[in-house]
Amino acid sequence: MSTEVWSKADLHIHSNHSDGTGSIPQIMEYAATKTDLKVIAITDHNTIEGALFAKELEDLYGIEVVIGEEVSSKEGHVLGLFITEEIEPGLSALETIRRITDQGGTAIIPHPFSAQGVYGPFGRSAFLATLSDMAFNALEVYNSVPYLGLANRLAAKVFSGGQGIAAVGGSDAHMVHSVGRGYTVFRGTTADDLRRSIDELETHAEADRGGLALALRYVRAVPQIRRLRAANWERCRVTS
Ligand SMILES: [Zn+2]
Ligand SMILES: [Zn+2]
Repeated sequence: MSTEVWSKADLHIHSNHSDGTGSIPQIMEYAATKTDLKVIAITDHNTIEGALFAKELEDLYGIEVVIGEEVSSKEGHVLGLFITEEIEPGLSALETIRRITDQGGTAIIPHPFSAQGVYGPFGRSAFLATLSDMAFNALEVYNSVPYLGLANRLAAKVFSGGQGIAAVGGSDAHMVHSVGRGYTVFRGTTADDLRRSIDELETHAEADRGGLALALRYVRAVPQIRRLRAANWERCRVTS
């Protein structure tokens, strides 16, 4: 690959099709006009409905969309990108990863050491023990949800050994203004380039924290996020 052009992609965004507060058009408008992201992945909890809608709007907004899903596996959340078929929640993490890769998708373990992460807050040894069995493609070493600082640092630390897994970042945005606060830097400009760059382990994670104002905005949005989670309970629950 000769290109030395590097671009940004936010690989982890929720819409109001699960527990995000923003609609797909609001997310697309924000990403296209307020960020320098080239690619965004819509990754609602246990549904690709919003992602399919976003894909239809990509020409209108001039930003490329990756169809994704944040699947609630028995052990915790698993992100599937570049998928075409929705994956049901409640399967083992291993089976969830298999269903993602079987349909040509890219499997990512998001916020691996958070409470809803596959390895839980204290799972460093479990992570190392299962690494060889879990055929995922990438680990989210940066997630911009406030209060995940420790989990992010642990993910980055465990990762620093370099186990042949790509490092990616995402905002895990549940509000439009959080889109792009965490992102993945990849070689090239398109979604195809992004996928290839992950496969070739070239990517890395970066943060654009947005400071205190964004953290306060998040705190104010929490009741609304909880209400959306309740309204979309069947979609958002962790089935364990
Ligand atoms: Zn999650
Ligand atoms: Zn998420």
